[in-house]
Amino acid sequence: MSKETIFSKIIRKEIPADIVFQDERATAFRDINPQAPTHVVIIPNKLIPTLNDATPEDEATLGHLLLVAAQVAKQEGVAESGYRLVINCNRHGGQDVFHLHMHLLGGRGMRWPPG
Ligand code: 5GP
Repeated sequence: MSKETIFSKIIRKEIPADIVFQDERATAFRDINPQAPTHVVIIPNKLIPTLNDATPEDEATLGHLLLVAAQVAKQEGVAESGYRLVINCNRHGGQDVFHLHMHLLGGRGMRWPPG
């Protein structure tokens, strides 16, 4: 059994979060510590700790996260100017919350390579 994080509480609306999208498979909410004018975290409602833990059964959910990201980018008005999607995995990836999530960052130019 994987250990729940604060993100499970956000999905169930047990703690406040600025949710910008939610359906039966995914939830998207504004990051509490934004790194860009638009910074939304997109997560599967199912607890998958890291990308390493995803299985073929999760394929549709993972694909859904990308479609949600494109929809949220439109909603947020950054689709045309552009945005970056980031998945941090484990220590070297900089992952702090062990509930798989995708960052959507936009509203400013992004540097490459990232730090
Ligand atoms: P990670 O470093 O794991 O890729 O990203 C976790 C992200 O979740 C961070 O950007 C952090 O600011 C955000 N975060 C952590 N706890 C909360 C919370 O309780 N509410 C919200 N809205 N964001 C959170």
